[in-house]
Amino acid sequence: MEKLSLLGGKKVREKLFSGHCTIGKEEKEAVNKVLNSGTLSKFKGSWGQDFLGGPQVRAFEKEWSDFFNIKHSISVNSNTSGLIASMGAIGLTPGDEVVVTPYSMSISATAPLFYGGIPVFADVESDHFCISPESFRKKITNKTKAIIIVDLFGNPFNEEIISIAKEKNIIVIEDAAQAPGASSNGKMAGTLADIGVFSLNYHKHIHTGEGGVIVTNNDEFAERLRLIRNHAESVVENQGTTNLTNMLGFNFRMTEIEAAIGREQLKKLPQLLDKRIENANYLRKQLTELPGISGGIPRQNCKHAYYALGLKYDKTKIEIDRNLFIHAVKAELPACSYREQDGPLVGRGYVKPIYLLPIFQKKKALGKDGFPFNLSEREYNKGDCPTVEELHSESLIHTQMIEPQLSMKDMNDVIKAFQKVYENRQALKGKQLKDFI
Ligand SMILES: *Cc1c(COP(=O)(O)O)cnc(C)c1O
Repeated sequence: MEKLSLLGGKKVREKLFSGHCTIGKEEKEAVNKVLNSGTLSKFKGSWGQDFLGGPQVRAFEKEWSDFFNIKHSISVNSNTSGLIASMGAIGLTPGDEVVVTPYSMSISATAPLFYGGIPVFADVESDHFCISPESFRKKITNKTKAIIIVDLFGNPFNEEIISIAKEKNIIVIEDAAQAPGASSNGKMAGTLADIGVFSLNYHKHIHTGEGGVIVTNNDEFAERLRLIRNHAESVVENQGTTNLTNMLGFNFRMTEIEAAIGREQLKKLPQLLDKRIENANYLRKQLTELPGISGGIPRQNCKHAYYALGLKYDKTKIEIDRNLFIHAVKAELPACSYREQDGPLVGRGYVKPIYLLPIFQKKKALGKDGFPFNLSEREYNKGDCPTVEELHSESLIHTQMIEPQLSMKDMNDVIKAFQKVYENRQALKGKQLKDFI
């Protein structure tokens, strides 16, 4: 028997894994060109030629539209901004309900609050972790205006959601931050719904430091999104818009530098994605050979973009608490460069179910009187979404050790760490995570 690193033995590997860096000489040259031009942004917050930004921003949007086969691409400074703008564009009104997932970045659930909308949490599928169509159906009332659906970990959402939404006249917003290049029945993730939103932040498949892109085939939404991005209230008069609902504008504009980086990054997406998928398939096959670890396969007829690999952990088979098991795996492995503080990129659960955050538990968003929660009878309680709570506390594990810079040898070290903990699990029997931290 080998001694587990957690119990004082030697680690499977000491040397840092290389970190995710997609920036190369192409991006550096593109940025230098922009710097040499002296025009770092050409946006103007008034109606006229420069309302839609400069040459890099426009070219980037055109190329994004071509790649994703969509009519309109609207660049923004983050996915967060994109989701907020989308809530404005659809005409969300205080008191309207928006069905959201508890298992995502918080903005996927809090975006409606900026316009007084009420987030209503639906539970997720236990195998693919996206909102389940049955739960969505149960949450619909005559106040439901929209649903924000997330392609979690890069797996496209269940398209039955679209049919239900159509039947009930509900607008679908797809948060595809983790799924650029994924597809469902041959159609790109992000373009499956009325509006899709991508992220270009530093942790995503491709990035511009910070950034995002909103996509839609709907002309009216596109026009309203462009207005909200760029000081709508002072533009509408000259621009001719008469629908003033939610025409308070932000500055959500992307600079020429980010757009120039984005153009180069987009060219690299197919290759980066292929490598990610290859890594994920290999890691998944090997890890799911361990009795008690399963899942991670794409939804039927879908291409999974594998932002992360999510797997199921069965404690009744492994007989060790999941949290302790993962803690022991992490103890065998080093971190990745660029993200050393994060430790090894293997995790138990994902994020805390969003409805358990203080903003929902205390029902305080805007001002001191609890607006907009005070417009609604909705409550947010532990137990609301049992599948998410079970995944989070017991059965989900996820890893980003599938990033494209990682080699087969790197994967093998991760696999060895899991195998070592599995084979030596008797040494952890009856113990709990709190005995070690
Ligand atoms: C990263 C991410 C976001 C936020 O993206 P930003 O560009 O950082 O605002 C939102 N939703 C999901 C699912 C994400 O993964």
